[in-house]
Amino acid sequence: QTNKETRGFETEAKQLLQLMIHSLYSNKEVFLRELISNASDAADKLRFQALSKPDIYENDTELKVIIDFDKDAGTLSITDNGIGMDRDDVISNLGTIARSGTAQFLQSLSGDQKKDSQLIGQFGVGFYSAFIVASEVEVITRKAGTPASDAVRWVSAGEADYSIENAERASRGTTVILKLRDDAKEFADPFRLRQIVKKYADHISIPVLLPKQATDEKQDAETEYEAVNDAKALWTRPRTDVSEEEYTEFYKHISHDFESPLTWSHNKVEGKLEYTSLLYLPARAPFDLWNRDGVRGLKLYVQRVFIMDQAEQFLPLYLRFIKGVVDSNDISLNVSREILQKDPAVDSMRSALTKRALDMLAKLKKDDSEKYAAFWKEFGQVLKEGPGEDFGNRESIAKLLMFASTHEGSKGQDQGLEDYVARMKPEQDKIYYLIADSEKAARSSPHLEIFRKKGIEVLLLSDRIDEWLMSHLHEFDGKSLQDITRGDLDLGKLDNEEEKKAQEKQEETLKPLLERVKTALDDRIKEVRVSHRLTDSPACLALAEDDMGAQMRKIMQASGQ
Ligand code: ADP
Ligand code: MG
Repeated sequence: QTNKETRGFETEAKQLLQLMIHSLYSNKEVFLRELISNASDAADKLRFQALSKPDIYENDTELKVIIDFDKDAGTLSITDNGIGMDRDDVISNLGTIARSGTAQFLQSLSGDQKKDSQLIGQFGVGFYSAFIVASEVEVITRKAGTPASDAVRWVSAGEADYSIENAERASRGTTVILKLRDDAKEFADPFRLRQIVKKYADHISIPVLLPKQATDEKQDAETEYEAVNDAKALWTRPRTDVSEEEYTEFYKHISHDFESPLTWSHNKVEGKLEYTSLLYLPARAPFDLWNRDGVRGLKLYVQRVFIMDQAEQFLPLYLRFIKGVVDSNDISLNVSREILQKDPAVDSMRSALTKRALDMLAKLKKDDSEKYAAFWKEFGQVLKEGPGEDFGNRESIAKLLMFASTHEGSKGQDQGLEDYVARMKPEQDKIYYLIADSEKAARSSPHLEIFRKKGIEVLLLSDRIDEWLMSHLHEFDGKSLQDITRGDLDLGKLDNEEEKKAQEKQEETLKPLLERVKTALDDRIKEVRVSHRLTDSPACLALAEDDMGAQMRKIMQASGQ
């Protein structure tokens, strides 16, 4: 009685599978990274369960991954003694795509192969990548703590459906067996396998074993295995010991990202609190960056034991794009999300990690303006939430902001506040800015005329969040920030006495005109004034000091207020 049944893949799974096979064709070897990565996750999960149920090990405590191959048969297998799966687990994990946001992800695809393959890269590929090299994939798995007869066999050719039936498995864990496609037979080769494991899995914290003799012979009970990787949690090693490639591969392992990170920061903290953190800055925004329940947070370990993914308590929301690991010695091993929220140790770690992340960004800004520009393009709008969210770090966040500007040669958001301040005129005491619907609209605003004439730089803001940002950012480096479209523009010492006198005289002469304009426009305006801001345009609209800005008004209108 095997209870065999055949089930169709969920539509989404099918779509993703097709896409992946085609778009990752030129980088086939990544399937092994994904399968080893899953084995390592399964070991993490077992260790975690063993914290409360030590019996679950059943005397098999050496967690590992074993890779076997049969060159003649053209097969390859990856075996682990991790947590394993029962029938329901298999159906929900391998028959659907468990990762949240898959539907949203598929919607964001354009149909353009080239663009889509980049997207699929950042989505991460996981188990299904096995089908890049395999014409058939078989999984035999048994969940820890269940009897040998409760194992499950899952088989699929990666097209419309898969079959699932009961099976026997002597030990807990999972074996994935790949029937290699004709053009992927190269992977049933000890040298090739060793090379790939070294490249992609050196950082995996459990041993990855390959048959010892580099022979083509089929493995049997006599076969001896040896570990190919270091099998030491990467973040526990000294910084000087870890190569750039290892940091990069580790990032891909924890983030499901295909692209390399822009930069990272690895720190060991000793003293009152003891913890190690490894923070990464991704190169590309995930498709769910703006989704409130999108994936975020760090991977939490306590004394090297994996505790949870997406621990959100360690970084503020405006740094939600940061990925990484934190390994603490002070948090209890049986911590839960609820406990994390109340733990004072977590609060101190959060403020230290926030500073670390901001320092990492500041360093990138200083050392590599090209990479920083790439960061800004992807995540700048998220960072702009910072001044409103994190009062204490307002100044350091402000230093990281980039703006479009009337500065000669500025294009796009490429100027920092420090750059602006360094260029201020000796008699200038304010930082001037303007908010418009687009950079183009900002550049052609009549409000800029007087500033052009006087050669004073103005920052040009046009992101949706900018008005909100500026409502929390009143000062930088001791200088106040002034919206040039608001109220009575006082240029302070930038206006000289003679100019002021001439202006007053003009205002007297124009009084009758103002009265007429006011009567004509009546209740549509609050006030008409003689402006000295304009040099070419005859008139422009201005906001009163305390009026809601145009952007804010649109947002409120859109939300029905
Ligand atoms: P991800 O690893 O990002 O969750 P995958 O597609 O790689 O996505 O795997 C899907 C799910 O299948 C995993 O989350 C896990 O629950 C399950 N799984 C895959 N491989 C194994 C394994 N070797 N042992 C236990 N569970 C596994
Ligand atoms: Mg995976």
